[in-house]
Amino acid sequence: MPVYLDNAATTKPCAEAVEAAVRAMTENYGNPSSLHRAGLDAQLAVDGARKIIADTIGADPACIYFTSGATESNNLALRGASAAYGRNRRKIVISAVEHASVEETAADLEKKGFEVVRVSPREDGRFYPADFVNVCGDDTCLISCMLVNNETGYILPVKETFSAVKRRFPHIITHCDCVQGYMKLPVRVSALNADLVSLSAHKIHGVKGVGAIFIKKGVRVVPVVTGGKQEKGIRSGTESVPLIAAFGAAAEKLSATLDERYKTAQSLKVHLLNAVSDIDCVEVNSPEDGSPYIINISVVGRRSEIMLHFLESKGIYVSSGSACSKGQQSGVLGQFGIRDKRADGALRISITAETTEAELDELAAVLREGIEKVRG
Ligand code: PMP
Repeated sequence: MPVYLDNAATTKPCAEAVEAAVRAMTENYGNPSSLHRAGLDAQLAVDGARKIIADTIGADPACIYFTSGATESNNLALRGASAAYGRNRRKIVISAVEHASVEETAADLEKKGFEVVRVSPREDGRFYPADFVNVCGDDTCLISCMLVNNETGYILPVKETFSAVKRRFPHIITHCDCVQGYMKLPVRVSALNADLVSLSAHKIHGVKGVGAIFIKKGVRVVPVVTGGKQEKGIRSGTESVPLIAAFGAAAEKLSATLDERYKTAQSLKVHLLNAVSDIDCVEVNSPEDGSPYIINISVVGRRSEIMLHFLESKGIYVSSGSACSKGQQSGVLGQFGIRDKRADGALRISITAETTEAELDELAAVLREGIEKVRG
């Protein structure tokens, strides 16, 4: 059995999610838009999942819309809100460490005439709410700031930032990509002061290809996908009932154990860092107060990809930085002050509460072996 330590890339679907998906495919296979009983049953399954997910983030179910994943949710948030509010307010503010689905979308809007301001962490590698507020103005339509960085686990001060922004500029729409925080840290839309929130199912033991966006009541987004007006016209296309049902089942299961899983993950993180603390060339890139689920370390002097494949050859799966950047050197690590040889040797180890100390000990042992055996 491989030791799977790449849970920030994706997670194994839980039995409950698989069962819900299979049930929707074998028994409840109607189209939610159909007017007969099979359609109604499918709609009930979708709305059941909607209610579960809404409850987990303290939202009204009417504010949850299903999408094909967080990439689409992020596109809808940025494109949809800028189309609704950006006619006379041409500035968009984002953090400089956003996932590609926010960064590349913002870059595209920049090409289409928006001004995009990217806020970086300070010298100490930390973000400060004032740095966001200071670049916002009457000309700003949208701010997008992720909750947990997917490469380092750094937790951004979203609540403080959005509250400060809203206090000075109540008109600015606030969007948070909560993908790596959802079901790991408490996510409450009102506490975050977020108008828009993106979620993904496959990071929480659901199935790939489904996500959701929370859109606060009264906030407008212009749809990106138009068609049959499913999801109240916000996201057309026949709902993927199996994936949505699986998303609901996974969220329901995990929401019961948020705090205890967090404590377990925290102690696993400490365990791993202790296990590698005496390896000279290992540096820790994740902050101590980051999400315990993501541990980024560098083996200085050994390139990430070479170490990654050595670990793989021993049955251990980790990632080099972000899975989405597929081996390209990460600009995000540079933003956090991790550059040159240290960035070249970065490995992302992402765990779940089911990860065991024995698996982490094995990783540490194989890392030592790799450092001896591989060069460059
Ligand atoms: N945002 C973050 C922070 C992510 O880590 C990911 C997944 N790599 C996404 C968005 C995209 O999510 P999805 O795979 O559901 O499109």
